[in-house]
Amino acid sequence: MTWYYAENNAQQGPVSDDQLRALAAGGRINGQTLVWKDGMANWTALEQAAPHLLAAPAPAMAAAAAAGVPDQAFPALGPETALCSSCNRFKPLDQIVMIAGQRVCADCKQVSLQRIRQGETPGQRFRFAGFWIRFVAVVLDGIILMPISVGLAIYLLPSLMGADAGAQLLYQIAANILGLAYKIFFNGKYGATPGKMVVGIRVVRQDGSSLGFGLAAGRALAEILSGILIGIGYLIAAFDAEKRSLHDRICNTRVIYK
Ligand SMILES: [Zn+2]
Repeated sequence: MTWYYAENNAQQGPVSDDQLRALAAGGRINGQTLVWKDGMANWTALEQAAPHLLAAPAPAMAAAAAAGVPDQAFPALGPETALCSSCNRFKPLDQIVMIAGQRVCADCKQVSLQRIRQGETPGQRFRFAGFWIRFVAVVLDGIILMPISVGLAIYLLPSLMGADAGAQLLYQIAANILGLAYKIFFNGKYGATPGKMVVGIRVVRQDGSSLGFGLAAGRALAEILSGILIGIGYLIAAFDAEKRSLHDRICNTRVIYK
């Protein structure tokens, strides 16, 4: 394994597992030190990325640490560097610019500016879908489900016309179960209902991973609550930084652009 670690806001390395362990043993880095190796998405605290390297060092390592690790074992990569908030890599300071309060490297500058123009906050991983685009998706889902709900109403029409309370209740229950099954199936299997697919948005967990059927079911049930509150549960998405509706808050989900 070849690691890089952050020291004084600059990238150091590459170092081996053993060298990293020795650095930790010698107190030069600690559990909070950001480290990265090829294959990791982000710079992560050492205690999360490789807790085993914080464990008690082997005797030889402890001896090396006690003797002091020679600096030439850990060549610094050129001049002072800083972490780019977009690509998450250390770049030389003369290639770093500040965009909307975030450090961004020259390679990422154009993309970052483009994202800001599209309404994205720099450093944010997702483009959150706002109230109106989600409203359109809900309307589309309603249209898609309409033939079934209309068919159901026609089937029960004689009873509904007769003001049969039982038939009306049956219709309400059947329509609700239909709506639930639709959301659970499509959000659970594809991450989006057909209405959301059409407008190019999807539902994800906070970390961007897919819901699965369990959370899709939980979210569909929580959405009933958003509907009961005369739509206020939906409307709060318009006033949230991450565009979360009530059911998104309850299930810790987000609706994002693909
Ligand atoms: Zn960058």
